[in-house]
Amino acid sequence: MLEALAELLFPTRCAGCDLPGGLLCAACAERLPLIDPATACPRCGAPTVSACCVECADVPFTFTAARCAGVLEPPLSRMVALHKDAGERRLAPALASLALDVLSGWLEWPDAVCGVPASPAAVLHRGFDHGASLAASLGGLAGIPAIEPLRCRPRLDQRALTREQRRANAARSIVPHAGVHVPARVLLLDDVFTTGATLDAAASALLSAGAVEVRVVAVARACGGG
Ligand SMILES: [Zn+2]
Ligand SMILES: [Zn+2]
Repeated sequence: MLEALAELLFPTRCAGCDLPGGLLCAACAERLPLIDPATACPRCGAPTVSACCVECADVPFTFTAARCAGVLEPPLSRMVALHKDAGERRLAPALASLALDVLSGWLEWPDAVCGVPASPAAVLHRGFDHGASLAASLGGLAGIPAIEPLRCRPRLDQRALTREQRRANAARSIVPHAGVHVPARVLLLDDVFTTGATLDAAASALLSAGAVEVRVVAVARACGGG
């Protein structure tokens, strides 16, 4: 009853184009800029047209492989932003399901799925940890236990930093909880893969807490950025 009233007053709108109806209309679902893992860079998940990926060349990663569901462009970019910045938590299962779609051949591999922890300031600002929310959704869909062994110390907003600054800032800020031990094979999930610096820092933290191998899956790949 309350839900029906809320729907009447504030109708659910498409995360891609604002059309009233569902969280994602058929037209926007159709034009999602999806990446085919078969033709993407195996190291960073970027769509690539050559054997040498311009996005991750010369960048060392502590995770062994990465897959990204789509390119960070509309309507996917809008879905990611609504989930993270506008607190539209109902989008978590939809975003997690896009990540699930690129896990072909990997589903039997992980012992656990782990989200990149949000900073305390971000959790306070948004009212929830979007990384943990996505990981819980993906874990539920894939039948993989979701774990939260990492924490994020206060840090600068990554978006204002250069590539090198991001790496240093991220590496300092993500650490395992004291005394935590994580399983051997961890699938690390984030909503956006930009330079990979944050994911690399989270993977390092997992390896320091007992993981043997970390693979990455991200909902969206920001390409050609700093
Ligand atoms: Zn739409
Ligand atoms: Zn690459």
